[in-house]
Amino acid sequence: MSSFTVQEQLHEAQQGRIQGQRCGGCGHPQFTLAVRCAQCGSPNLTLQNFSPKGTVVSFTVVEVPVELFRAEVPYGFVIVQLDDGPRIAGWMPSVRSAQDIRIGDSVRLTPSSRPTIQFEKL
Ligand SMILES: [Zn+2]
Repeated sequence: MSSFTVQEQLHEAQQGRIQGQRCGGCGHPQFTLAVRCAQCGSPNLTLQNFSPKGTVVSFTVVEVPVELFRAEVPYGFVIVQLDDGPRIAGWMPSVRSAQDIRIGDSVRLTPSSRPTIQFEKL
């Protein structure tokens, strides 16, 4: 088990890189760092870089934000299925209304000055 932390993971994401774990037992990819596989319970997990590209599987447009994003509304909050990894959540400042995004859109992780995961359309 590596000493990779959630803070380091978020820092990597801010640079446009997604790291998580893949189970050596069943192959399950996971973004949430853990000591066991969420699918099969195996402790045989290794760090892996996942593709920063993926597909929008769900979204909403946020009009009432958390404090950090008060000046950003409206914006998109998306769930993305990474091409070779897990589903992860992030925000899309380019989405200003539901007309700006569709389920199935191709997106990519993009570097962000915010302590969060940011996507842009491809
Ligand atoms: Zn597993």
